[in-house]
Amino acid sequence: MTIAMSPAPRLLLVHPPVVRPCEPPAGLARLAGTLRAAGRQVEVWDANLEALLALLQAPSLATDTWTRRAGRDRDHHLAALRDGRLFAHPDTYRRAIGDLERWLARLPCATAPFPDGGWHLSLTDCTHDQWEPTSSHDLQRLAADPLAHPAVAVLQPALRNRLLEREITHLGLSVNYLSQALAAAALAGLARQLRPDLRIILGGGLITSWLARGTRPPAGLAALADHLLTGPGEAGLLALLAAPPAPASVPLASASQPPRPDVAQPRPAPTSADGLPQAARPAPPEPSPPAPAPVDDPTTWAYDFSDFPLDQYLSPGLVLPFSLAHGCFYARCAFCPETFERQRYRPLPTALVGERLAALVNRYRPRLLHFLDDAIHPAVLQELAAHPPGVPWYGFARFAPPLDDPDFCRLLARAGCRMLQLGLESGDQAVLDELRKGLRLATAARILAHLHAAGIGTYVYLLFGTPAEDEEAARRTRDFVAAHAERISFLNVAIFNLPRQAPEAATLPTRPYTAGDLGLYLEFAHPRGWNRPQVRRFLEREFRRHPAIAPILRRDPPAFTSSHAPFFLVPPPRR
Ligand code: SF4
Repeated sequence: MTIAMSPAPRLLLVHPPVVRPCEPPAGLARLAGTLRAAGRQVEVWDANLEALLALLQAPSLATDTWTRRAGRDRDHHLAALRDGRLFAHPDTYRRAIGDLERWLARLPCATAPFPDGGWHLSLTDCTHDQWEPTSSHDLQRLAADPLAHPAVAVLQPALRNRLLEREITHLGLSVNYLSQALAAAALAGLARQLRPDLRIILGGGLITSWLARGTRPPAGLAALADHLLTGPGEAGLLALLAAPPAPASVPLASASQPPRPDVAQPRPAPTSADGLPQAARPAPPEPSPPAPAPVDDPTTWAYDFSDFPLDQYLSPGLVLPFSLAHGCFYARCAFCPETFERQRYRPLPTALVGERLAALVNRYRPRLLHFLDDAIHPAVLQELAAHPPGVPWYGFARFAPPLDDPDFCRLLARAGCRMLQLGLESGDQAVLDELRKGLRLATAARILAHLHAAGIGTYVYLLFGTPAEDEEAARRTRDFVAAHAERISFLNVAIFNLPRQAPEAATLPTRPYTAGDLGLYLEFAHPRGWNRPQVRRFLEREFRRHPAIAPILRRDPPAFTSSHAPFFLVPPPRR
């Protein structure tokens, strides 16, 4: 069968599984709003939310008591997450999340033996025993056998419908996290099978980081798509959608026989030594240097959330994400990819912040605003304090002025600041100095006290095992946290991985942290012998069990962590 394609470019933007399904994807909303304002035709699809909700309704063969109970209660849990009942009782919340994760973990795709099984599915990730998201070879294998991915298998009818019944000319996959990479590859492969004429575009934070590794994109990655975009994406997509493709008669795969959603669709059979079916094999890679990213201008960004199912997200009310800038204004921390990738900091002018937020709040009436910036600029904090957005909000900030002023913290609380995420990393001043955090511990202690007094919750991030740290320094971090435990609402504890682009990668003995050619991090021989096994042992035996620290760690909402943390905080009293 052939149909005549419309000459007008029409883009379908997709948010691939699997990430926390608690708020609509900001990147897609911003791309859609900005491109539509520029006259482009754009559709958006939160495939992540759709896949997870479908998998939570999928049948299970498990017969154990816990899984049967989880199956019985799952609709109740989903409703109670959305209406907020679960947040009144942390233990009930914990049990409900445990049940939902149990259901996903016991689906046949997890319990069946390989090749039908081998998947580990949760509310935040979908990994496989044999396929690595950091291997472009494995990504290509999934692109060739896309229905092997359980989330993509449940999405197949919807993708087919979108691609075959609408006049889509371009498919954009926004890949920001490693947990999305396998599904994104499978979606690209499935789209290619359904519509060989489609222009496939890969972009997002993870693709940007992969492309930042060298002047040429990895060949295996380039083979998945027609275009690889770096940076925020608006300018690149505007350029790609500028010229209408020539009218063409395009063959559609099996368009006359839509599949029944209740019948499993056959997978293409592997026919070659490496398991890639010839018919679905991607064209031989012809990598070319990525074009320089066109400049994105935050003043042109516009958010359009109208096409997302806003009442379906797993949060007690609508949480709207919003970026006040692209990149980090500080960009000096020694270990941070923001420092190596050298993306220019491009903020929304402070004078426009209030107006943009007011428009968003008036249109969607969110319960909570989530600022996505790496760190909210001090000038923007001042602006938010002076002109509150009218609903509670949270986001990352640095331990720095103006937060060292107790009056300012009180003002910020009155302006709706419910929680700040703060990167402390270490409680040892020498380590902080070596990491170029630009932070004095005495200042951090004062800020924790002021925020606590003002009623603003804190989510504090720690990083153990950096090249600058040794065991004694780690103990000083433990002691700092214990001394200020009353003023810390939540903790995130991570073990350091060395970014490939860090200067230390050239001088320390290293090996890849994960298998595959796309890994961004390295394991390294610690210059002071403070290696991962020792760090892990310290965390388990000394840090996590500390009587002042253990209660903070127990408070952390499982799976949703910082995304649901603000809902467990008591609102500050009105003064
Ligand atoms: S402030 Fe945060 S995002 Fe910015 S460089 Fe430091 S760690 Fe990275």
